[in-house]
Amino acid sequence: MTEHSAAQRPVAIVTGGSRGIGAACAIRLAAQGCPVAVNYARSRPAADEVVRRIRGKGGEAVAVRADVSRLGAATALVDEVTELLGPPLVVVNNAGVQRSRAMIRQEPEALEEMLTTNVHGSWAVTRAALPHMYEAGWGRVVFMSSVLGATGGPGDTGYSASKAALLGMSKSLAFEVARRGITSNAVLPGTILTDLATEVEPAVLDANIASLAARRGGEPEEVAAVVAFLCSAEASYVNGAEVAVHGGGWVSLPPTA
Ligand code: NDP
Repeated sequence: MTEHSAAQRPVAIVTGGSRGIGAACAIRLAAQGCPVAVNYARSRPAADEVVRRIRGKGGEAVAVRADVSRLGAATALVDEVTELLGPPLVVVNNAGVQRSRAMIRQEPEALEEMLTTNVHGSWAVTRAALPHMYEAGWGRVVFMSSVLGATGGPGDTGYSASKAALLGMSKSLAFEVARRGITSNAVLPGTILTDLATEVEPAVLDANIASLAARRGGEPEEVAAVVAFLCSAEASYVNGAEVAVHGGGWVSLPPTA
């Protein structure tokens, strides 16, 4: 094993760690021994609650505000985390927004929001943290894509495009960093029961779940378990991978948004 000693207890940033999948990832990584920066944009009380839960179990965590869609925010985020916890060697690019609407009714501003948050934000936070990983000779980057990034889906032209971009980004980065002890992988969740997935009309959610092979949505913890593995020392030879967490996928497509 040629892994750097930082792999024992690496500092992690989870973007969008205040709620849903990100909160579950933050809690899971902390349980694995990582001091965790719980990033949020708007939900301060929720981020504080995640920090409280982590500390309650003896873990180390801080809440750090940064709207990753804004230019310059990523560098400030990484600098602040470095000051508070140490240089981040694990980045989970989880912050994301989904504005589902058929293309003909979609406003350009919604596309812009999805691209700046989901794509630019992930690129910028990773870019800001990479020098620390290069210096340590060890690092883990996870991009939270979506099954929609691979398959597309009705009502999600912009969202799918943003998540497909992350697949290309993750694989390209893997080529660049593989010989430096750094890995870059993409996770593709299916329907996971968070605010993002459940803030739709109950009938739409029911139809979505009825179309799933598993006939149930996934829990955030079921995604976090995969993310935690990809961020662990054990995942040293998993690089440039796309890992679907969708309970078997769709058996039929949900209705158009
Ligand atoms: P939620 O809506 O439950 O949570 C989104 C998180 O992202 C919140 O913590 C939110 O923080 C944060 N966030 C949003 N915009 C920004 C921003 N500009 N800067 C920093 N943080 C931001 O979403 P999920 O947990 O469901 O989704 C997490 C990720 O998983 C997303 O990338 C999503 O696309 C992806 N995904 C989710 C699926 C699902 O079915 N739930 C399926 C496939 C992929 P705050 O509240 O502070 O704004």
